[in-house]
Amino acid sequence: MKRELFTGVNSILFNKYFQTNEDSYSYLAAIKWENNNYVCKRCSSIDYCSGKQPFSRLCVKCGYDESPTVGTAFEKCKFPLLLAFHIVFKVSTKKKGMSSIELSNEFGLRQKTCWSFKQKIQQAMCSSKLHKLSGEVHVDEFYIGQYEENKEGRNSASKKRLVVVALEILEKGVGRAYAQVIESASAKEFRPFFEDFIDHDAKITTDEWRGYLPLKKDYPFLIQKPSGKGLNFKELHIHIMNIQGWLRGIHHHCSKEHLQGYLDEFHFRYNRRAFMETIFNVTLRKMIFITKK
Ligand SMILES: [Zn+2]
Repeated sequence: MKRELFTGVNSILFNKYFQTNEDSYSYLAAIKWENNNYVCKRCSSIDYCSGKQPFSRLCVKCGYDESPTVGTAFEKCKFPLLLAFHIVFKVSTKKKGMSSIELSNEFGLRQKTCWSFKQKIQQAMCSSKLHKLSGEVHVDEFYIGQYEENKEGRNSASKKRLVVVALEILEKGVGRAYAQVIESASAKEFRPFFEDFIDHDAKITTDEWRGYLPLKKDYPFLIQKPSGKGLNFKELHIHIMNIQGWLRGIHHHCSKEHLQGYLDEFHFRYNRRAFMETIFNVTLRKMIFITKK
């Protein structure tokens, strides 16, 4: 059962590594109960023997047989765990991820089934909010339409969602970024986003929109400058175009209430673009140790 962690983004190696359901259960169990952290969910005893299900642990005190999937995002999964692992691998390692329609075609599952599972992956891809943006940070907001009924017109504003986005500007290139759906471009809506994702000492630049003004009190290095039709925020506008292009390109049915999940997914991969070797394990771990809402 002691196997090395799988690293990398190579599908052929991944297919070799995970060939059977057993391979996935064993891997899941090894991570879930790493460093001997088994505690019976029923009686808190730490003594166990092998259970009846693949790689499950049977509490010797109360007899509760716990499958590795219990308490993880894989619990009650409607298809084999091996398939679930392959989906997590594809969604996390492919540069643009995969839509539920693409997953459905590739894995022979119903689109709705893929969509539900994809939601679980997206939940795991939600930021831990532990690594705030620092240094030079550009902030702006933009609209995202609902592409399934994207008719330009008088009512289109109500079908659009406002998103605030922040991007680190490095000496060479760009760093990490985060985005969040907001109700309005007001300081009240901006503040929680700033609190969660931007360091108080960051050198923040926004356009001259007054909604950012009240934040200067808590973010002393925040400056405002004219947008110049986006020219003064070139990197940020490229980033926004990338988000919009990605959503339009493969996620035709991104509805209002699910937009945040897609923004989280986009930025999870984006912020780990230099660490692709471990992205599968990072995603998997988050799905295993996910805290249920
Ligand atoms: Zn027990």
